[in-house]
Amino acid sequence: MYFRLLFLALFLAITFNQSLSGAEKPFTVVVDPGHGGRDPGAVGATAYEKNIVLAVALKLGKLIETNNKDIKLIYTRNTDVFVKLEERSRIANKAKADLFISIHTDGVNNKKVTGASVFTLGQDKLKENIEVAKRENSVILLEEDYEQRYEGFNPTSAESYIMFEFLQDAHMDQSIAFASLVQNGFVHKKRTDRGVRQAPYWVLWDTGMPSVLVELGFITNPDEERYLKSEKGQNELTHCIYDAVVKFKDDYQRKSMAKASGDDTDSSPALARANREVEIASGAPVYKIQLFATRTLLDNNDKEFRGLKSIDYYQEKKIYKYTYGAFATEKEAATERKKISSLFPDAFLVAFKDNKRISMEEARSKP
Ligand SMILES: [Zn+2]
Repeated sequence: MYFRLLFLALFLAITFNQSLSGAEKPFTVVVDPGHGGRDPGAVGATAYEKNIVLAVALKLGKLIETNNKDIKLIYTRNTDVFVKLEERSRIANKAKADLFISIHTDGVNNKKVTGASVFTLGQDKLKENIEVAKRENSVILLEEDYEQRYEGFNPTSAESYIMFEFLQDAHMDQSIAFASLVQNGFVHKKRTDRGVRQAPYWVLWDTGMPSVLVELGFITNPDEERYLKSEKGQNELTHCIYDAVVKFKDDYQRKSMAKASGDDTDSSPALARANREVEIASGAPVYKIQLFATRTLLDNNDKEFRGLKSIDYYQEKKIYKYTYGAFATEKEAATERKKISSLFPDAFLVAFKDNKRISMEEARSKP
């Protein structure tokens, strides 16, 4: 009996230890108050964007630090200083954060416009959304050496935004899920609802985790400016973001627990076959299925691969492109692509020869 108890205790200790080790890295949130220092952001009749967003960011941080010891909190700035855009994303990427929240207020010439919105990365056809992104991205121009730093990206030129079209955001679903939680909170607090939207924000593009940009309201509307400056307004808005963070973290942890406890052992015939080492004579083309691309390198077991094994990547410029499987014929690769189309509807075939990417035409012309 003693033995059995001891055994049970040992078993529990091991199991418990395992589940703990699965959650070794704390859930990390980066809070990014926009602008700062010599960059005031949008300017109202009496207030600057940089001060309002810093106040809300600090309130948010305080709520997290007081109530959620299990969350690691990082600010990109917690004082009135100028921080480069690329530094903001670098901080988040270096910390391997689980969530990036950039906080801003809107501003337009029309004083009647009001409302809150939450943006995720995307290429929206709406001209209005691109204009907001252009305005926020323009802080780059305040950095003395921006031409060298941003690889020729000019925040004011339309051509510069084409690069966003070729990049899939690996974290889009999660970013939208979090954005919706925040926006629902705003709506609940009777803020004018401008919705969850997509726009090509540079800082969202450069962060390798679920990331959103919150526009708290319009500093250029007198009523909203008063609200944004007030203690009541700032507390309400902060609580909306805070509640969303806690809900998002709980969902995230529940999902990774479920994954760790066993439904990860997917061995459908399709996957097993793709795992098979392909023997391909050197000089012959290899076909792979490209899933998506990111700015920061993901681990092979990253949840973004949705359980697929046999993941590989290649690099073009500063972008990592991920592929799945390796096949000797285009037909085999195409069949496999169909099988995973429910997981990755936009996946497409790519060809390689001697580990170099070649065009599909080139691959087909080789016997
Ligand atoms: Zn801003």
